[in-house]
Amino acid sequence: MKPKLIVFDLDYTLWPFWVDTHVTPPFCKERDGKVYDANRQVVNLYPDSLEILKHLKDNDYDLAVASRTGSTEEAEQLLHLFDMNKYFVMKQIYPGRKTTHFSKFQNAFNHCYTDMLFFDDEHRNIRDLSSIGVTCVLVEEGMNWDYLNRGLNLHKEKKSS
Ligand SMILES: [Mg+2]
Repeated sequence: MKPKLIVFDLDYTLWPFWVDTHVTPPFCKERDGKVYDANRQVVNLYPDSLEILKHLKDNDYDLAVASRTGSTEEAEQLLHLFDMNKYFVMKQIYPGRKTTHFSKFQNAFNHCYTDMLFFDDEHRNIRDLSSIGVTCVLVEEGMNWDYLNRGLNLHKEKKSS
């Protein structure tokens, strides 16, 4: 069975930086289509991030964001500039343990944790969410197709066992 909700972390999962540390707001999108920070550094996502989100959305998966960053506004600005909001049914962006973020998803959609799939680069988050039944994939080199397939397969195996 397909996951009913696929959740992505932001920092070091969909983009290669901590939004509160490595880039300088405000951000803007220039005529060249690229996003720049206040120091004129180009701000990029991981190369496969947008294609993966588009692919999942096209295949009728519901997607969400769970981030612990304190730079909520800055993260929201980047999601807007990268035109990513159209992919997400819900976003939870604030500090704290991600079990809180996921309890909001559960309340909003009434899905079991075992029907959710999660991608994140931090062991502590993987540990917290695995313990309540979420299928988790540790993303060590940025989101890519390999992690996605691993997650979908892992979820399928868990649901059929
Ligand atoms: Mg992260």
